[in-house]
Amino acid sequence: MAENYPIVSYFMVIFIVIRLLSTVGKSKPSAHSLPDKLADKLHTDLESIIAASADFGNIVRETPAAVLHPSCPEDIAALVKFTYDNDNSSVPFAIAARGRGHSVRGQAMARGGVVVDMTSLARHHGSGGGAAIAVSWSRQLGYYADVGGGQIWRDVLEATLRHGLAPVSWTDYLYLTVGGTLSNAGISGQTFRYGPQISNVYEMDVITGTGELMTCSPDENPELFYSVLGGLGQFGIITRARIALDRAPKRVKWVRMLYSDFSAFTRDQEHLISKNGRDQGDALDYVEGLLLMHRGPPDSWRSSFFPLSDHPRIASLVNRHKIVYCLEVVKYYDDLTQNTVNKDLENLFQGLSHIPEFVFQKDVAYVDFLDRVREGELKLTAQGLWDVPHPWLNIFVPKSRISDFNDGVFKSIILKRSITTGTVLIYPMNRSMWDDRMSAVVPDEDVFYTIGFLYSSGFDDWQQFDLQNKDLLSFCEDAGIEVKHYLPNFGNEQEWRRHFGSKWRLFRQRKARFDPKMIFSPGQKIFNRNQSI
Ligand code: FAD
Repeated sequence: MAENYPIVSYFMVIFIVIRLLSTVGKSKPSAHSLPDKLADKLHTDLESIIAASADFGNIVRETPAAVLHPSCPEDIAALVKFTYDNDNSSVPFAIAARGRGHSVRGQAMARGGVVVDMTSLARHHGSGGGAAIAVSWSRQLGYYADVGGGQIWRDVLEATLRHGLAPVSWTDYLYLTVGGTLSNAGISGQTFRYGPQISNVYEMDVITGTGELMTCSPDENPELFYSVLGGLGQFGIITRARIALDRAPKRVKWVRMLYSDFSAFTRDQEHLISKNGRDQGDALDYVEGLLLMHRGPPDSWRSSFFPLSDHPRIASLVNRHKIVYCLEVVKYYDDLTQNTVNKDLENLFQGLSHIPEFVFQKDVAYVDFLDRVREGELKLTAQGLWDVPHPWLNIFVPKSRISDFNDGVFKSIILKRSITTGTVLIYPMNRSMWDDRMSAVVPDEDVFYTIGFLYSSGFDDWQQFDLQNKDLLSFCEDAGIEVKHYLPNFGNEQEWRRHFGSKWRLFRQRKARFDPKMIFSPGQKIFNRNQSI
């Protein structure tokens, strides 16, 4: 945790104010001063600045002027209001909420501005920092949790499990903040059935670009509610979210099956996600997939799954086919269903076309399944391999073109270059589980695939992965495959306009309404006016 140097912070506040006043010059700002209590919470020590200048991607660096460690939502509101009130025509400094900084292209950075460390709110929840994690029930909603925007999902899981409950929609990795994933979508193998995390929110508290703290839901301030979900941090800072909960299972049956034939693999995935009724007993709870390629062992850092004794025969299968497709599914169970879960799985697997002798099964605790990536993270951290560049690319590909994508990208670009050392994920989801009123953008087909190229690289060779990313996107462009980016990163308005398509006008209107001075999340480079204090 960063040290606090209140005296330095105090001078920095004065510096911000002086710069602010000189920036706005003739426009005669209302010249509110920063509330005294904020001075101690604005950090300018090297450690804070360095931490806020980098992210998980380790590719982009932007230096903020200060980092706010709020202890309650009102601290953030005061900072935003100060910024908003002090200029009528231009932005004095930008503000970026930062969750865990697990973006890969500087999305939570604010050059010359103020980064708000949202996890600081979570640390202060006992002392007035707003919602910690409170579980409740109502006749209308059933069980739900009110969760601070800076809470990490791992803590949400732990707190809700104490009540025998859990959220239904997850990300693969749980050390991400609620505000951070809701600003994107929050996807994983549960999305086909429960929708992304943004589809499982009932209500939020949001600080808008005028410094107003507003509660929003589908019934109250709905425009703000739908803007913020998937809104890339552009419309406000989420300080509380009300998340849907369900009864938590105890354990999971976790199964992987291998395919050499891509069309059999996708046919089976699509069949399995077609059984997606919320109350459907014969549906799976999680469907993902990944590529096994002829470089490296069958297991990746993200999860060690295959028994060691099976590694040689899996490796030989992969060597033979160059790419093997691995279906990964999970069915939850508890005391009530432990006697029927195997039969249910048997029924679900009937008619699947995987290679019969390559089926692997595990039976693990629900928590261990959800937290499966953590072990890999700790291992990589110990080896000094976690904090390296991550030139990731995540895209959504329409189902109708997934076979062309396999031929042109997996079998051609990826296989031939043979530089891919990270995980490549591929799994389908149902568009009906996404709400088009929200800001998130997905392809215009009932079923689409998410493809995640989750590379790690050295500090001096990430460009070759970037080049590969560019080339595969060019291939899609030339082939007319209309992909949409997840966790997008574009350099100019034209690309953003294209990304949002028919939603662009609305996105802009919402920005003008909720953040008229374009204060928030400049690192997304959508509306950034690039001003520094
Ligand atoms: P940050 O990177 O800190 O912020 C992301 C954006 O949201 C920034 O623009 C920031 O300004 C804004 N923001 C942050 N907090 C708030 C807030 N409270 N209110 C408003 N705006 C805010 N994503 C998935 O969907 N599924 C996965 O399975 C998945 N796995 C991942 C695994 C790893 C190892 C990593 C590193 C990332 C993974 N991601 C996954 C991506 C992740 O969801 C996003 O990068 C997310 O933004 C990270 O959350 P964060 O808390 O670190 O947000």
